[in-house]
Amino acid sequence: MNLKKVLVTGGSRGIGLGIALRFAREGFCVGIVGRSQQHLIAAQEKAAQQGLVLHVYSCDLQDSAQLTDTVSRFAKQHNGLDILCCNAGIFPSAPLAEMTEQQWDDVQAVNSKGTFLSVKAALPWLKQAEYGRVVITSSITGPVTGYPGWAHYAASKAAQLGFMRTAALELAGWNITVNAVLPGNIFTEGLESMGEAYAAAMINAVPLKRLGTVEDIAAAVHFLASKEAGFITGQTLIVDGGQILPESTG
Ligand code: NAP
Repeated sequence: MNLKKVLVTGGSRGIGLGIALRFAREGFCVGIVGRSQQHLIAAQEKAAQQGLVLHVYSCDLQDSAQLTDTVSRFAKQHNGLDILCCNAGIFPSAPLAEMTEQQWDDVQAVNSKGTFLSVKAALPWLKQAEYGRVVITSSITGPVTGYPGWAHYAASKAAQLGFMRTAALELAGWNITVNAVLPGNIFTEGLESMGEAYAAAMINAVPLKRLGTVEDIAAAVHFLASKEAGFITGQTLIVDGGQILPESTG
């Protein structure tokens, strides 16, 4: 059987790991990319406990040569690449008045430039696949909402969507679709590090009165990567429990 091959950036933790496990459970051949070897091994062990296999690749998205090499290694080892999930991201917080140029640049480098570099590295393989799917993990923050302390993050997440729309046009000729999932507040290690008060405030702001799970996002990504979604490209899917809907806080 010709298994579809999936590579998930930032697949060692949080949403990315949820996406990777979902694809593995569905029988796909899955590779995950992250910086920390320790996080990668922990993810691999978690998968193994569920009888699943994740192939792990240690790589910093900010290093384009390393990234190109990593994507090629995965594709050569597993006979191609069909689906790329651009999920790796960072979300440090800094008020605008105190934000340094370095902080701004770091967030753009991973979140928006990292998306561009990942797609560029995967392109030769996705073109060969004649099925290619790119699914970007953006955010409601930036494309739809704002949040104090995240001017750099919000800009990077909106940038991903500008990139997505043009990439969708340019790559349509190879039958490659490019779409984005916009998570609201999803319970991950990254979100946990924001503290209990942040999580409580977010639950209160969500009409469905809970944080999202990584499985909620994985389901949306899985759909956009499916054969059935083959006529959807350049689109966004918001998965936020209704957080962006209220017209008033009352
Ligand atoms: P997380 O728990 O902090 O996990 C982030 C993942 O990205 C880790 O696997 C991390 O690996 C990897 N990563 C970070 N920088 C990297 C780099 N330079 N090179 C390679 N890998 C890198 O984050 P998360 O909450 O799951 O968020 C994942 C994505 O969802 C991000 O794009 C984020 O913006 C988006 N998102 C999250 C939420 C939420 O509520 N959690 C909401 C909206 C959007 P290492 O730690 O090993 O480097």
